[in-house]
Amino acid sequence: MIVIAGPSGVGKGTVVKELLNKKPEIFLSVSVTTRLPRPDETHQKHYEFLSQDQFKQHIEQKKLLEYAQFAGFWYGTPREPVEEKLANNQNVVLEIDLQGARQVKTEMPEAFLVLLKPPSIQELRRRLISRGTESPEALDTRLQTALHELEAEKEFDAVVVNDDVNQAVSELIALLHI
Ligand code: 5GP
Repeated sequence: MIVIAGPSGVGKGTVVKELLNKKPEIFLSVSVTTRLPRPDETHQKHYEFLSQDQFKQHIEQKKLLEYAQFAGFWYGTPREPVEEKLANNQNVVLEIDLQGARQVKTEMPEAFLVLLKPPSIQELRRRLISRGTESPEALDTRLQTALHELEAEKEFDAVVVNDDVNQAVSELIALLHI
């Protein structure tokens, strides 16, 4: 079980996409969320987009391995597909926030937690702005959360700085021995 966490805008999506290009045998978990889709996002590919009620049902029915509220929306990892792949000895990657990473570590201590860090906060801010997906308020919330997430560095098994995507992916592959 590989968990990749790190502040919003650090480039988790890009790094994970490139990791899967290089290692297509890894299973990437598709999360559920109550956030609305962005223009370039597809249902069940990027996320399974749920209503608040549907998300609540998922919690009640214990369908989620972990879940957390992030910047005003709920996000969670569906339990069944992940457990199925792990049972078949397949490597699984979760791209989730700090709260979720902590829950996974508690439930599965053998999980390998990687913190993806930006080269600097200024660069993170620049990446978030240039992505153009957030309102100014949402951007501020995400930057505040980012500072908090970066303080949790010691809780991770490894830290990778995402300056250059290819370099970050190579480091990840070396760390994971895959
Ligand atoms: P975004 O709205 O930018 O897609 O995601 C916001 C944050 O939620 C990111 O840090 C992302 O990694 C995290 N996230 C995405 N899916 C999950 C999930 O299933 N569980 C948790 N805990 N966080 C998630």
